[in-house]
Parts: sequence; structure tokens; C-alpha cells
Amino acid sequence: MRELIRTSIVFRSASAVLGMVFLVGSIFSVFTYFYLVNTEQKHSISNIKELLNSVENTAAVACYLSDRNLSNDVANDLQKNTNIKEVRIFNKSTLLSEVKKSLPKTTQNLGNTSGKESDYIQKDIYSPFNKTEQVCHIRIRVNQEAINDQSTTNAGIISLLLFLQTILMASAVAYIVLSLITRPIKTISDSLHNLRPEKGELLPQAEKNKYDELGQLTSDVNRLITNLVATLDEERELRIQHALGEKKFQTIFDNAETGIFQMNKDAILTSCNPALLQMLGVEKNSFDIALIEIMKGQELRLHLMIDNAVNEMRVVSEDFYVETDSQKQKKWIHLVIHATENGELQGLMNDITERKLREESANQLAITDHLTGAYNRLGFEREMSRRSKAHANGIGSPFFLMLIDLDKFKQINDQLGHQAGDEVLMQFSKILHKTLRKSDFIARLGGDEFVVLLHDLQQQTIAEEIAKKIIAQVSTPFLLSNNSSASIGTSIGISFIHATSFITAEVLAQADIAMYEVKKSGRNDYRVASATYS
Ligand code: GH3
Ligand code: MG
Repeated sequence: MRELIRTSIVFRSASAVLGMVFLVGSIFSVFTYFYLVNTEQKHSISNIKELLNSVENTAAVACYLSDRNLSNDVANDLQKNTNIKEVRIFNKSTLLSEVKKSLPKTTQNLGNTSGKESDYIQKDIYSPFNKTEQVCHIRIRVNQEAINDQSTTNAGIISLLLFLQTILMASAVAYIVLSLITRPIKTISDSLHNLRPEKGELLPQAEKNKYDELGQLTSDVNRLITNLVATLDEERELRIQHALGEKKFQTIFDNAETGIFQMNKDAILTSCNPALLQMLGVEKNSFDIALIEIMKGQELRLHLMIDNAVNEMRVVSEDFYVETDSQKQKKWIHLVIHATENGELQGLMNDITERKLREESANQLAITDHLTGAYNRLGFEREMSRRSKAHANGIGSPFFLMLIDLDKFKQINDQLGHQAGDEVLMQFSKILHKTLRKSDFIARLGGDEFVVLLHDLQQQTIAEEIAKKIIAQVSTPFLLSNNSSASIGTSIGISFIHATSFITAEVLAQADIAMYEVKKSGRNDYRVASATYS
């Protein structure tokens, strides 16, 4: 029953209407019953009093004449009323008439009881000629049982009718509410419960509710279902498209030659494609790949790059060299990264080793003298510029600069040919390479003019020793490929640089002066510039 009330709106509304009406109807019926009983009783007493008034004149004449017959007639007339049990007419103190109704035994017994004063109605009768002279007294005993019976029967019938009417009205109201409102709502609710919108099902529209609120509710729900289904279809379609797109991107991700990755701000890769693993020579998912580890010595640059990408929300790129674990070979990679909304970083990694090598060899070529293999003027200028910066920053080490010019070289060209001259230049370059340390720098500035930087050296005696060695080695004739020999000499001007900063042109000019002093004073010797650059 409770379950039925909880789950069925039809049962709940029907029992609520009927229950409420039963309660209200009962209260009203009981109230009406008692009201009618009371009213009926008063009405019966009032009737008896009226009857008594109607016989008053006749009774007055009978009493005035002390006419027993007439008095008995009056008493009999009164006694005909069903609600009068007994009539007594007293002439002063003597009983003129007495009439008692013959009642059924049970009632008679009741009637024999002396009765309460409230059971009597009395009236004094006055002379028809003198209204102040009392001629007799009528005493009527009311048949209270009859009045009670009558009033309770009438009140009972009316209350019962009222109750039945209320119940009938309530049933009618309940039926109307059920058939017009509750049941259609239940029908809609059941249909909605069993509806399969994904199959295109809609709520059936009841013909009789087509234009009322329930009809509107049904069409609104149907519209909602239609929109919902359309949205779901659209979403499903988008999901399919998205899945296809993701699959496409997954294929690109897996097969791209470019390394694609995601990483956090600590440069630890959170995901990457096979190309990247191959590029770095790393086993798949063997550990959390930390770019910092791979790019040893360049951590600062990598962190700076990440900071720029995150703080300025822009795409940043840099070249790094890496030493792959597998082959212990150096590679150059080009790294492009940008920060995503969630604070992660995405990026691309390309192997640019070949390009870098090409660039390096092109650069090397640009600063190399193609005849001797030593640095050329551009190489010398770059080296001096690098050293100049280091000295300016206080991290440069002192060194000697030797400007070397071959003596009477033109004669070799003139006498043995340009080819022989070239060979002499090459052999001289070899002598320099053999005589000097690996850390020293050798360049051919042009013609037969060379420059040597004796790296990280402060003692002039050592510089002079080296100059002497070069001069000594050159003094031996050069054997050439055409079996001829060439004898030359060298003039060397030396400058010393130990200051915190210097100007290349000035250092070179000092060495040049010293070297020309040697030329002037007979050649094949060295001279240390008098004003060393300090
Ligand atoms: P000095 O003793 O005063 O130095 O005189 P020199 O004969 O050595 O003449 P100088 O140094 O003034 O000139 C160098 C010569 O080197 C000039 C040029 O003909 C020659 N020369 C320049 N470049 C090359 C080259 O690439 N190969 C050859 N074979 N000769 C060159
Ligand atoms: Mg020369």
C-alpha cells in the first residue's frame, strides 16, 4: 500500500481526494445530524405550544362553564398529536379532564415514570370575559421518546443523504481528475519511461489533449528529445571525426622523421615519438628522458630557452649538440619548443648534423689558406677578435705574436717558377707546424707572410728560442719535387701581449715594424718589438 502511494500518482491522488472528502463529509454529516436533531426537537415542542394556543379559547369556555364534556373534547383533540403523551386540565384544584395515550408496553412503562419537569408543557387559561381571571390550567406531558425517535430518524436520513452526496461528488471529482489529468500524465510518464530516443522514438500525442497543457507538454518534451538526439548525433559525429583526426595525427606522429615530444619545465620528456628515440639513441620508455642529461654542458642555454618559451609564450628554437649513448657519436639537433596552455611544453627535434658539418666545413674553408692548410687572414682576424674579447673580459692569457716574412721569396718564383714557390710556402708551413705546439696558432696572411701566436706564453726567451728554431730550420735548402732545391731565409718581428685588452692592428703594426727592422738590417733574423703591447 505504502509502495503504491509512493510510486503511483493515480493511486495517490485518488486516495487523497477520497480520503479528504470522506473526512470532511463525515465531520459535516455528524455536525448536521446533531444540528437537525436539536432543531427537530425544538420544532416539535413549538408545534405542541401552537396547538395549545389554538385550543386556548375553547378550553377557556369549557373551564369557565366547568363543562366536563367540552373539556374532555379539548383534551382529546390535544392528545391526538403523536408527540403528546398525556393531557390534564385542572379547574382550580379539581381535575376537570385527563386523557392518556395508550402506548406500546415498553413506551408505556417509560410513560408511567413520573418524568422530569422539562417533559411538561403547561398553560394557564383565563376567563373569556376577564383576561385577568384564571379559570383553569392545562398540563401536557410531552412524548419525549416519540420526539427523539422522529428527530433522530429525520436527522439520520438527511445526514446520510448529505454524506452519500458528498461521497458521490468526491467520486465524480476523483474520476474527472483521474481521467482528465492524472491518467494522461501517467500515460506520458510511462511512455517517457519506455522511450528509446536513440531509435528516433517520440512521445505519442493523445488526440484529446492535443490543444491543452498536456498536449503542449508532450510537444515540448518531443522537441527537447529531437534537439537532444540531434546534439548527440552531432557530438557522435564530432567524436568520430576527432578519433579519425587523432588516428591520422597518430600515424604522422609515429612515422614522422622529425622528433615530436612533450616535456615539462624541468626538460623531462613526458611523451615522444619513435623518431626522437632513434635520434637520441634511447630505448623506448626505458626511463624518463631528461634533455638536460643529453645536452650536457648546454644546460644553461636549454633552461633559458624553456624560460623564454614559458614566460613570453612564443616559439623558440636553438641548435644543440648531443652525444648519443648508443654510438657515442656527436650529433647536432635543432630544437623548437613552445609552451602550451597547461604549462607543458611541446616541441620538434631535427637532426641537423649533416647541415652543421657542411656549415662547419664551409666556415673552416673560409678561414683556411687553401695552399698551406694554415689559417688565412680571415681566420687570423677571427682568432684575434676572440682573444681580444677574452682579454677585455679578463679571461685571456698572455701570448706572443710573430710576424714572419720569407726573405727574397720572389727570386724562387722568378728562378724556379710559381709552382716551386708554392711548394716552398707549403714546406715552410709544415716546418711551422712541426716546430710549434698544437695549441699555437699559425696563419698565412698572404704572399710569403705568416703569423704565429704562441699561446699562453710569458717568457720572451722561449719566444726568441722558437724564432731561432724557425730560422735554423729554414736555413736548410728546401728540396722540391722537380729535384731542384731552394734556399730562403725568414725575418721575424715579435710582439708580446699580456694586457687585459689590446687592439689587433696595433699589435700587428708593432710586429711589422720589428720585422722590417730585421729586413733592413740584413734579413734572416728576429727582433722583439721595443714597445710590447701592454
Ligand atoms: P723580401 O725579402 O723583402 O721579403 O722580398 P721578397 O722577394 O720576399 O718579396 P716580397 O716578400 O715583398 O713579396 C712576396 C712575393 O710572393 C710576391 C709574390 O710574387 C709572391 N707570391 C705571393 N703569393 C704567392 C703565391 O701564392 N705563390 C707563389 N709562388 N708566390 C706568391
Ligand atoms: Mg718576403
